[in-house]
Amino acid sequence: MKRRDFLKLGVLGTGGALLGWEGLAEAAQQAAGGPFRFPAPVYRTLGRTGLKITVVSFGAMLTPEPEVIRVAFEHGVNYVDTARRYMNGRNEEIVARALKGMHDKVYVATKIVSSSRSKVDIFRDVETSLKALERDHIDVIQLHNVTGSERLFEPEMREALVKLKQQGKVRFFGVTTHTNETEVVNAIVDDKDKFFDTILVKYNFRSDDDLKKAIAKAAQAGIGVIAMKTQAGGYKTDALGPISPHQAALKWALQDKNITAAIPGMRDMGHLRDDIAVMGMRLTLVDSMILRCYGAAVASRYCHMCGKCEETCPRGVRISVVNRSLMYAEAYRSAELARGTYGEIPACASASACLDCGHCVARCVNGLDVAAKMARARKLLA
Ligand code: SF4
Ligand code: SF4
Repeated sequence: MKRRDFLKLGVLGTGGALLGWEGLAEAAQQAAGGPFRFPAPVYRTLGRTGLKITVVSFGAMLTPEPEVIRVAFEHGVNYVDTARRYMNGRNEEIVARALKGMHDKVYVATKIVSSSRSKVDIFRDVETSLKALERDHIDVIQLHNVTGSERLFEPEMREALVKLKQQGKVRFFGVTTHTNETEVVNAIVDDKDKFFDTILVKYNFRSDDDLKKAIAKAAQAGIGVIAMKTQAGGYKTDALGPISPHQAALKWALQDKNITAAIPGMRDMGHLRDDIAVMGMRLTLVDSMILRCYGAAVASRYCHMCGKCEETCPRGVRISVVNRSLMYAEAYRSAELARGTYGEIPACASASACLDCGHCVARCVNGLDVAAKMARARKLLA
């Protein structure tokens, strides 16, 4: 935060008394500026895996240059998250270039393709990832984008993962979820076989208490929980003037001790500095006020991806996935990721299905204009 940004906090209608001394001191310290110094890494343990990973770990999804990831590794970041599907497979190769000579210092998590269900498909995905990553094992292999509990118990998937573990090709099993995540987290906790070791879950200052409680239960059960999508989209807004809500949102996720780490997507050195600086920082009153303003400013755009509206759409449009694709296009500014995600929706459940629907009856529990969102998705992605 620059000095003028600090002063601009007055725009938020706050007085020094409201901020409290602690918040004032920290904001003033940040406002003083000065050359950037990488902080000492801060670690937490990833549940029963026992892996000690940096609380700010690396989300590589949007990173085009291996140098950015490499600098993070050189300053102690020791966990990187990628996926078979990101950048049409190139993302794992970018991570591999950053990992050169550092394979024994960094834990790598990747994901099998969400449509891969058979043993053959899962074996193929893992072999392809190992080759792309230039590595003999994957630390955490994750089911990508789980939206309900059923998928967690598919016998063929479990047999494939166990076989891969026996072969030493993967060490721990994880799940990623950003739709219906409370159900998914609870199902993993209640699984009597305790099959999954980690959960990568959408978790941010707009998340509800049910998810917070499910995450607490998961942590108590020894499951390592990592937060993603901590920025609630990261939409640009003028409501805060030049103040970025970025660090405050990351701090919000990490102040929950049931979260082992967050994996913010870091596209460039600016993002890396912003995110890594949060290690060791506390959430302050100033941060909470920034998040309140930011949350209100993006409320009409941010989809919680809860999927509840889908029960009210007679055509079964995957509204939450359409909205996630739209978020990748508008907020993340990644046309490739947006189109890739949108392309995975069957045509009959995409926004095109709305074209001959006379009147939109789908209702968002958070007041979003579903018809307008679908129209925007068609314009940008269809
Ligand atoms: S217009 Fe609304 S109700 Fe009709 S198909 Fe699209 S999302 Fe569903
Ligand atoms: S549009 Fe609304 S109801 Fe539908 S997934 Fe998003 S937040 Fe949930």
